[in-house]
Amino acid sequence: MERRRSLIRRIFHEFYSERYELIEVPSDLPKREFGFIFFKSPDIMVRHKAFNNSQELLEFLKANVPMHAYYSTAHYKWPEARSMDEKMWLGADLVFDIDVDHIPTPCKTAHDSWKCLDCNLGGKGMPPETCPKCGSKRLERDAWVCDICLQKAKEEVLKLVEDFLVSDFGFRLNEIKVYFSGHRGFHVHIESEKVQHLDSDARREIVDYIKGIGFRPSISLNGDPDMSETGWRGRMARGVYKFIADANADLLTELGFKKREITFLVTNREIILRGLESSPPYWGCLHKLSKRSLNALFDFVKRSYAVDIDERVTTDIKRLIRLPGSLHGKTGLPVVPVGISDIEEFDPFSIEILNSASSLKLKILRKIPTLKLGSREYSFKVNERVKVPFSVGLYMACRGVAEIVNVM
Ligand SMILES: [Zn+2]
Ligand SMILES: [Zn+2]
Repeated sequence: MERRRSLIRRIFHEFYSERYELIEVPSDLPKREFGFIFFKSPDIMVRHKAFNNSQELLEFLKANVPMHAYYSTAHYKWPEARSMDEKMWLGADLVFDIDVDHIPTPCKTAHDSWKCLDCNLGGKGMPPETCPKCGSKRLERDAWVCDICLQKAKEEVLKLVEDFLVSDFGFRLNEIKVYFSGHRGFHVHIESEKVQHLDSDARREIVDYIKGIGFRPSISLNGDPDMSETGWRGRMARGVYKFIADANADLLTELGFKKREITFLVTNREIILRGLESSPPYWGCLHKLSKRSLNALFDFVKRSYAVDIDERVTTDIKRLIRLPGSLHGKTGLPVVPVGISDIEEFDPFSIEILNSASSLKLKILRKIPTLKLGSREYSFKVNERVKVPFSVGLYMACRGVAEIVNVM
């Protein structure tokens, strides 16, 4: 274990010596608090650090080789002070976290599993709240991220940026920075002056809006919604149109529609669509549906547009977030900026970690599910020795499921 960790640390050390140009020094550096987790004590975060200039930060990273590196989204008068009161908060960037960990992607049943620590019952996919056999909450989870999971995260980022931050809130694209988080998703940062002084409640309202919380669509309020409208009304109009256009009996049954309603929707599809697209729009046909079915339809549409962001990250105005350009200690993948126009093609496993090495030889220690990482699918057997691309090897080693035999 010790030896394994020190080998990984050596690779991180080389990374911080060779690839420091990847480090993106935060704006307003002297006012930021930094936090680090080191290899020698992976359970302890060392906080309240600060740096006067980028040279100091880069030297620190090279000399101390953190397993995880974070900086504050907030600016402080005294970032090194030990208590939040003494730090004197001056403002904070607006940050969003999209993490597929809790988004139920279909591939999770293929690569995730859980086990009850009390009765040993296990299963595939995301763990239930409590063990279905003994009711225990002590469930151990084996979670993985594959290319399909990452695609889902990318879709969420695009919705967040294009539909909400740009269209509804009016931010310019050049005010929005997107970073791969180094593990299961993306962070979206806005540093503009306009957001700096929003308090936690104001940020919660932004979160609620983006998640559609408290938005109850109704077709009689202020006239029928038009597809060209901005905001949630326009989104709902476009979503309902798409829903009616694509609706099939299976989905409608699943959503609880009655047989008579399904027949009504399918036989009158064209008439309903013409009503929705006319000017002014006419939604009257939908009144033939029961209130229950109408709500199921609206909820379905709302869910497809709302973005799955982690509200704790956005509402916490004293949050530490991963330093762009640093390595994530649980994956060995770097936190890197991703342009909105490049995000669909983005593959974290294609980023070069070291200039000097391109592959790793591994010994597989534990069962690993078959995974698609980047463009390739990987399948390993326990005790097998394999040669893999450097980033895939470092990922498996950091996950603790493989041992590095040698660097090539
Ligand atoms: Zn159990
Ligand atoms: Zn997946």
